[in-house]
Amino acid sequence: MHDVVVVGVGPAGARYARRAAEQGYDVLAFEQGTVGEPLACSGHVSTDVWAYTDDARDELLQNEVSGARFHTDGPGSDAHPFYKDEVISNVIDRVGLDRHLAELAREAGADVREEHTVVGVSEGRETLGNASGEEHDPRADHVTVEVKGPDGIETHRARMVAGCDGPKSRVRRELGLPEPDELLHGVLGFDETADHGDFVDVHLTVPKFFAWRIPRGEAGVEYGLAVPPGDDARERFETFTDGYDANVTRRCSGLIPIGPPKRVTGRRSFLIGDAAAQTKPFTGGGILYGMTAADHAAREIDPEDPATLGDYERAWRDDLRQEIRLGHAVRAGYSVPKVVQKAGLKAFEGEIGVHMDRPTTLFSREQLKALLSRS
Ligand SMILES: Cc1cc2nc3c(=O)[nH]c(=O)nc-3n(C[C@H](O)[C@H](O)[C@H](O)COP(=O)(O)OP(=O)(O)OC[C@H]3O[C@@H](n4cnc5c(N)ncnc54)[C@H](O)[C@@H]3O)c2cc1C
Repeated sequence: MHDVVVVGVGPAGARYARRAAEQGYDVLAFEQGTVGEPLACSGHVSTDVWAYTDDARDELLQNEVSGARFHTDGPGSDAHPFYKDEVISNVIDRVGLDRHLAELAREAGADVREEHTVVGVSEGRETLGNASGEEHDPRADHVTVEVKGPDGIETHRARMVAGCDGPKSRVRRELGLPEPDELLHGVLGFDETADHGDFVDVHLTVPKFFAWRIPRGEAGVEYGLAVPPGDDARERFETFTDGYDANVTRRCSGLIPIGPPKRVTGRRSFLIGDAAAQTKPFTGGGILYGMTAADHAAREIDPEDPATLGDYERAWRDDLRQEIRLGHAVRAGYSVPKVVQKAGLKAFEGEIGVHMDRPTTLFSREQLKALLSRS
């Protein structure tokens, strides 16, 4: 029996698999396709990402960003710049990041198998026969995972299963764990014209979210937006890219979970990353929060002791609860009347001291210093 079966080898699954294997656990990880594919992400992350990689910056970095121009209208409209005098974030090769993280998991000893789709998960209980009849033995609890691989259906048993299988998590559904509050529909398109600019553009022109333009250095320019279900993402995307006169040659799309749900652990199961809606509500970004939660999971969970699942719930929520709560408050600002948005942006535009993953830094000494330095 394995200690943990990991379902999904994106950033959350790869990071967890690596950390758990480094602790000596027997980790078997399944990825339904080829690691990193298909792409459905901007790969726009804070510089904290490099704490999770090993010497991969030169290979993965596409561009450095030091500010954002906010617009309450479409392309060509007035801009409200927010910036630092240093690099705030990086645009990275997201496919390359996933491959690198999966390689680190393999090097740590995790058995990572691609082209293996998990099709069934159950939390089983074994009973022991004895003189007075059958008795439940908690030590014999296990999970059974059914996997469709190149040679047909395989069945694996483990002490625990980690659902790291993204926004539409099969593990979550199979085990009846709560769903995220919302699943936004994100669309991306790429223009191959190189752009080494160091500002991203954010347009507050779509319901409850925004549209964006990201310069990706030699890799070109990315345009994107995300909308609530039912809204016509495709039509809005056409209007947006026409406004920029963009020559979009490649597109992709994906779901962004917003939440998180009240519970991300079962009897012998736990969710990490998008499966647990561990994302920033105001940007949809989940790479860093997912890997942060993966580290908590590896630190707290002992696969032999289900009681430690509660320690994981507490640890990741203690770390991210305030950030996510404030992230929801920032996002609420996307839906206020345009005149209020304009006034708010005008009041705060200029140099900032905020960390892009930590909205609580809106109240930090750095932010206060940045505000005071304008007067
Ligand atoms: C349009 C868009 C733009 C985004 N831009 C950013 C950004 O700029 N910065 C940022 O931080 N975040 C961004 N995100 C969010 C980011 O992509 C996710 O938060 C991140 O990928 C979550 O990582 P994960 O490992 O939890 O899930 P995923 O990356 O979704 O990985 C889950 C893995 O599980 C696999 N899987 C699924 N089901 C099964 C199964 N049954 N069996 C085996 N394998 C399975 C999938 O193939 C996948 O590889 C964006 C998302 C979208 C949609």
